[in-house]
Amino acid sequence: MSVTKFQAEEQSGGQETRAAICGLCPGGCAVETVVEKGKLVDVRPRSGIPFAAICLRGRHSAEVVPSPDRLKTPLIRVGERGEGRFREATWEEALDLVATKVKEIGKAYGPEAVASHSGRGAFEQSLLDFNVGELVATSLLLPFGSPNISSVASLCYVSFGVLAPITTYGLLANQLAPDFENSNLILVWGANPATDSPPFMFDRILKAKQKGTRIVAIDHMRSDIAQRADQWIQIRPGTDGALALGLLHVVISEKLYDEAFVETWTHGFAALEAYVQTFTPEKVASITGIPAQAVIDLARELATAKHATLRTYTGLEYSNSGVQTIRAVFILWALTGNLDVPGGLYINPVPPPTIEKTPVERPTGATAIGSKEYPLFHQLTGLAQFMEFPKAVLQGDPYPVKALLNFGASILTSYPQSAIFEEALKALELLVVVDRFLTKDALFADVVLPSTTYFEIDSYQRYPGYVRLREKVVEPVGESRNDILILRGLAERLGYGELFPKDEQEVLAKAFARKPELLEALKASPDGVALQSPPKQYRKFETGQLRPDGQPGFNTPSGKLEIASSLLAEHGYPALPEYVEPSESPLANPELFQDYPLVLNTGARIQTTFRSQHLNIPGLLKHQPLPEALIHPEDALKRSIVEGAKVFVTTPRGKVEFYAKVTDRIPPGVVEINVGGGSPLQAPAWQKANANFLTDINNRDPISGFPVFKALLCQVALAEGKQAINQFPKGDMHVRSKVAS
Ligand code: SF4
Repeated sequence: MSVTKFQAEEQSGGQETRAAICGLCPGGCAVETVVEKGKLVDVRPRSGIPFAAICLRGRHSAEVVPSPDRLKTPLIRVGERGEGRFREATWEEALDLVATKVKEIGKAYGPEAVASHSGRGAFEQSLLDFNVGELVATSLLLPFGSPNISSVASLCYVSFGVLAPITTYGLLANQLAPDFENSNLILVWGANPATDSPPFMFDRILKAKQKGTRIVAIDHMRSDIAQRADQWIQIRPGTDGALALGLLHVVISEKLYDEAFVETWTHGFAALEAYVQTFTPEKVASITGIPAQAVIDLARELATAKHATLRTYTGLEYSNSGVQTIRAVFILWALTGNLDVPGGLYINPVPPPTIEKTPVERPTGATAIGSKEYPLFHQLTGLAQFMEFPKAVLQGDPYPVKALLNFGASILTSYPQSAIFEEALKALELLVVVDRFLTKDALFADVVLPSTTYFEIDSYQRYPGYVRLREKVVEPVGESRNDILILRGLAERLGYGELFPKDEQEVLAKAFARKPELLEALKASPDGVALQSPPKQYRKFETGQLRPDGQPGFNTPSGKLEIASSLLAEHGYPALPEYVEPSESPLANPELFQDYPLVLNTGARIQTTFRSQHLNIPGLLKHQPLPEALIHPEDALKRSIVEGAKVFVTTPRGKVEFYAKVTDRIPPGVVEINVGGGSPLQAPAWQKANANFLTDINNRDPISGFPVFKALLCQVALAEGKQAINQFPKGDMHVRSKVAS
């Protein structure tokens, strides 16, 4: 397909307007695009069709796609690593160089010395389908013999999406669908659907509210959804696990749970009953800051709503017991009779795949980095845990890693203690970055390969019960290429090109190979096709629909919903959803609290960025020009901080400059800072504001290996005209001392 092949809906004044899928992020919102002389000039909302939505970033697509900052040709480094001096190269030269170096390094150190990492910029639907699915990692290096494929799944989504639901329900979270439309109570916990990409759930929640459904939001700050909720329950950051156990305490002690369900379908209830005894509402109040009566009321409401549904996402992942906290919430949902019932948390059946792809064998040599430290993470994802990457590069532990292929990810703004990751990137023999703009990572790259936005490719988009073709809106900028064709170019040179599609026609042909009639229907339906699905069936655990053997129950080792997880116990973790106080908190670390008396949260999304992206786009920067530290008026007053003042946020790891947002949306004693800053193309204030100079590479959830981003300690002080600098230790002593020895 090409832009010329499709009938424009409207042509006027040389402008062509037509229905399209937004191509700025993988969200897949249905929009309307306006193209003039081959250039994208506007992206507008579209209504009346499924999955229509547009966010602020999407509205600014016409600035992003043709931005003068776009990478237009392959680049080869000519300066020192980090200088960002490159020369232009042809695709042939650049891909040949990468393949030659990969082979040389593989020969010298073993294939495991070459690793890959993929990020949110590599989530396009065909990339997911032709690689390692939802977990985003490219499978490119598996046939080469390296087990070290990894992705941002090392610090995002997997606790919520894989580890917690598999160890509890025996399924993935992408099967769990909140039934907002039939619910009497919607609890939003660990999520702010207003900043979701796409924002489909937010719209559904607001519609449910208009119809009278009660909304309760649990959040440390008054987020967009908390502002619109009927009740906002304000919680001390990092203590959500204690609240979940407190709710279970009330539900169990007041016998509000579904006794028949517990008897027949659960494993470990008695142990949980004993464990939650100490989580009385009063004790939970002292941990979380939530009044005891509010804990009791919420527990009773959840158990009697008939029914309540849950919107949770990645917000609960970033504490010292992130996986167990999410498990506790899932258990609460099941025990209160809200799992797989109308108006509850519905379990979606898995649709049969339509794609035909050649299976890739897993290498049998060295095991992936991080598989020893985080065995369950590795077992359930098949990925390396990238949090262990600096140790492998800088210390050769468990073996040396010498090369990294980085696809659509900004490692140096998203991983904790960026200075350590920077040292690791500097120490590599080969770093390849595939992206649309020059990231901080790219400054250290030997080869930079320019990829297209999704406005510039033909592909497809899957939605729940729906699918649609993605039609190219404009031709690729410069020589930029579809990511999947870049993979093909590399795979060809490594000797197994046939594993990836050779062009976009083949992408579509293979993606719908098992349902060619669907592809034909899609070609005839620019707005997409609704997939036929059987009528909804509830309580599928009773009818054998959750297990591959067709037996009733759950797809877990015990066949039951595992309150006490066999998989966790097998790997030496607590089987019950135990709560752990954040290790850097006022209660756990009172001495540190003397010097750092504010709880630090990072990671809440803002409307103008997509993670670290778009901070170079003038139209978006106008909405929020500066990186903000949200601070309560009482805490600001104590420090003589006024709205907009330049402040330093300090932790034991570093000191970073932000601008004060004095607001009672944040509680006293807590600070929230924006993430995403720290890349070279960004507005100057954002370039300096890398939140991950403040976070801690060694402070992690022991099951997932995820960093604790939402429960740290900090101090905030007025910068007072002192020179604004980012001071941070040149690497963590724990790592550095080992490197030196
Ligand atoms: S969420 Fe993503 S796909 Fe949807 S409008 Fe925004 S940028 Fe575009």
